[in-house]
Amino acid sequence: MKGDEKKKLYCPNCEDDRNVHPVTRDETYTVRGEEIIVSVETMVCSMCGESIGNDEQDQKILDAVHEEYRRRVDLLTPDRIREIRNHYHLSQKSFAMLLGMSEATMNRYEQGGLQDQTHDTVIRACEKPEVIRDLLSRRGHLISDWQRKRVEQALAGQEEPANQLLDHLGEVDWVCMPKEVSEKTGYRIFDYKRFAGVVLSFCDLLGEISRTTINKLLFYADFLNYKISTVSLTGTTYRKLDYGPVPADYGGLLSRMESEGLLFCEERPYPNGKTGFYYSKGSNADSMRFDFDEIENRVLNVVARDLGSLKATEISEKSHQETAWKDTEEKQLISYIHAMDLSLSLS
Ligand SMILES: [Zn+2]
Repeated sequence: MKGDEKKKLYCPNCEDDRNVHPVTRDETYTVRGEEIIVSVETMVCSMCGESIGNDEQDQKILDAVHEEYRRRVDLLTPDRIREIRNHYHLSQKSFAMLLGMSEATMNRYEQGGLQDQTHDTVIRACEKPEVIRDLLSRRGHLISDWQRKRVEQALAGQEEPANQLLDHLGEVDWVCMPKEVSEKTGYRIFDYKRFAGVVLSFCDLLGEISRTTINKLLFYADFLNYKISTVSLTGTTYRKLDYGPVPADYGGLLSRMESEGLLFCEERPYPNGKTGFYYSKGSNADSMRFDFDEIENRVLNVVARDLGSLKATEISEKSHQETAWKDTEEKQLISYIHAMDLSLSLS
């Protein structure tokens, strides 16, 4: 570890860069009146002894504290909460609706946030199908027809064959995507089968893909197709967010694909201690194949070839160079007119 010995970090106490060394010690945290001791490794200023942490480390410690607290008072783990929800093919949003909670809260619990005792009790009760059946009869009107049907199938224990399922897809209005033929949609009505087909094509070509990457690949595929054919590939509308363009309601779209078994999603820690979502083909993926024409397939192959090996941060930086991103206001929808300046082309 000679390289590490030379490394200096900024010490807020000394107000200067200092040599640091790792120290492991037990720290005591109090969670809802319970004292919890966890073993923590931090870097310490060699001059003054101040511990120099960062947000990622703090989050790791917090996760460890929560894990120990859950074990002690017997709360559901984040994985178990997700399992219960997936058992009924519910999205986070629909599950939260049925239980009278917010989608953000449900998401937080599945990410490792500590649930309150009341919420833990109601989520645990949902292990029993009767409880879901009861919730569905009283609060089922709050979720979409499509989602309700999926739960009923899960409850009946009889999966509808995937090809029949596909027949219903066009009828249901379930996603926050403008239904219009305009420069926002690349002059195509949003088409979920095409959207899912593009995602699965990239999974075929590239294997496992991070959420950040998949959002950018979709953007490049849609915009490149528009540049070539003056029509988008999927009709998806993109919004300018900090990390680049992302499909409007990508969370809803990807979790729908996940709940249909088209995509498999795994949450894993990044090296920096945060976690990210990785997607690969789900068990039903082969039931959903969209036949793209020759040009469209070339678009998909060029996007995968040119961008597939880049890291998420690299694609993100690349997208920041596109006129589509530069000439759009924060959080606003991106016009496909900018596709004409796209850095990619079919060659
Ligand atoms: Zn110091």
